[in-house]
Amino acid sequence: MTTRSASTSTLDHLLTEIEHRNPAQPEFLQAAHEVLETLAPVLAARPEYAEAGLVERLVEPERQVIFRVPWQDDRGRVHVNRGFRVEFNSALGPYKGGLRFHPSVDLGVIKFLGFEQIFKNALTGLGIGGGKGGSDFDPHGRSDAEVMRFCQSFMTELYRHIGEHTDVPAGDIGVGGREIGYLFGQYRRITNRWEAGVLTGKGAGWGGSLIRPEATGYGNVLFAAAMLRERGEDLEGQTAVVSGSGNVAIYTIEKLAALGANAVTCSDSSGYVVDEKGIDLGLLKQVKEVERGRVDSYAERRGSSARFVPGGRVWEVPADIALPSATQNELDENDAAALIRNGVKAVSEGANMPATPEAVHLLQRSGVAFGPGKAANAGGVAVSALEMAQNHARTSWTAARVEEELTRIMNDIHTTCHETAERYGAPGDYVTGANIAGFERVADAMLAQGVI
Ligand code: GLU
Repeated sequence: MTTRSASTSTLDHLLTEIEHRNPAQPEFLQAAHEVLETLAPVLAARPEYAEAGLVERLVEPERQVIFRVPWQDDRGRVHVNRGFRVEFNSALGPYKGGLRFHPSVDLGVIKFLGFEQIFKNALTGLGIGGGKGGSDFDPHGRSDAEVMRFCQSFMTELYRHIGEHTDVPAGDIGVGGREIGYLFGQYRRITNRWEAGVLTGKGAGWGGSLIRPEATGYGNVLFAAAMLRERGEDLEGQTAVVSGSGNVAIYTIEKLAALGANAVTCSDSSGYVVDEKGIDLGLLKQVKEVERGRVDSYAERRGSSARFVPGGRVWEVPADIALPSATQNELDENDAAALIRNGVKAVSEGANMPATPEAVHLLQRSGVAFGPGKAANAGGVAVSALEMAQNHARTSWTAARVEEELTRIMNDIHTTCHETAERYGAPGDYVTGANIAGFERVADAMLAQGVI
C-alpha cells in the first residue's frame, strides 16, 4: 500500500468514526468531511501529523458548554432558550468566533461554525484560536427590551467561560452592534471589569474598531477581486448577484460599487429583490438597519427598476460573479448549474458554507473560480483581531489604517491559498489551498505544544 492510499484510508476510517460519534449533526459532518477530503496529500507528506493524532484531536472540540437561557417577554411570559459556546481549538490563540442567534441553531450548527473558524482564523495569521456560540433565540419581531433581557440572561452564564485571554465572542447572524452592546454591559456589570478585549464588534465610541462592521463584506469583495486578477480580469464593470441583506451583504454591495461593479440583487428568507439599476444602498440600509424590515419593502419603495420575487433564489439572475452572503447551504447544485449557464466567472463565499459540496464540485469542474468562506470571509474575524490589538494597546486606529491592514490580510490569504494549492498539485483550487494552509498552521502549533 502506498503512503498516499494509506492516508486516504485512514481519513475514510476517521470520517466513519466522526459520523458515529456525532449523530444528528449534519452541518458539522459536512464541514468536517469537506476539510478532511482535501488533507490526504499533506498527511502523506507529513507523517508526523498522523503519528501525533492531529486530525483526531482537531475534530473534537476542547470544550463545549450548553446552558439554559430563561427570559421574560414584554408581557411577562417566560421563555426558555438554549445557549451554546463551543471552544474548539486554542493552539494559536484565545478561542475566537461569533455568536449566532437564530431558530436553526443547535449543537451541530455551532460545531460546524466553530470548526470552520479554526482554519479561517489560522489563515488570517493573527494568533486567534477557533470557537463559536449562540442560541436558538429568534430576535425577529422582538422589542429592544426583550432582546436586552435575553442578552443579559445569556451573558449571565456565558461570562464564566470567556475573557480577553480565554475566549472572545463577536457577532454573527442575529447578533450585531445592539446585541454586542447589551452583552458587553452585562459582562461589565457582573465582573466589575472594563475588559474591552472580551468581545469584538463593539461600538466605535466604546472600544470598537472602525471598519469592523464593513470588514466581512469588504474582505470578500477583495478576495473575489484577487481571484479575478489571477485570471487576468478585474471587477470593474462586472455584474454581481449577492444574497442576504444583513451586515455581510450590505457591505459587500458597498465595496462592489466602490470598485466599479454593480450588485443587482439582495434577499432574505421571504424571497429576493432584483434591481436593474443596481441596489440602492441608502434605501437598503434604511430598510434593514434602521427599520429592521424585509426586502420586499425595499422593492415597494424603489420604483420601477426593482421587483420582489417571493420565494425565489438570486442565483437565477444572470451575473458575472456571485457572492452568497446569507447562510449555510443556500446555493445547491441546481443553483450552481444556473450560474454556470449564465456565464458566472467567480463565486466567493461571504457566508459560512453557503455552497453545498455538490455545488462546489460542479463550479470547480466547470472552471469557475471558487473562494471558500474560510478564506474569502475571513476579513470579519481579522478585523476583530485588530480590534483586540487596539484594545490591548488602549488605542484606536483610523479607518484608513484598518482598511489598509484588511486589504493586506485578504491579499495575503489569497496568495497563501493559491500557492498552497499549487504546492499540493491542485492549481486554482482555493478549497484545497485554504484547508491545507489553515491546517498546517494549526497542526504545527499543536505538534509543538504536545498531546493536550
Ligand atoms: N461571525 C464572524 C465569522 O463567521 C466573525 C467572528 C468574529 O469576528 O469573531 O467569522
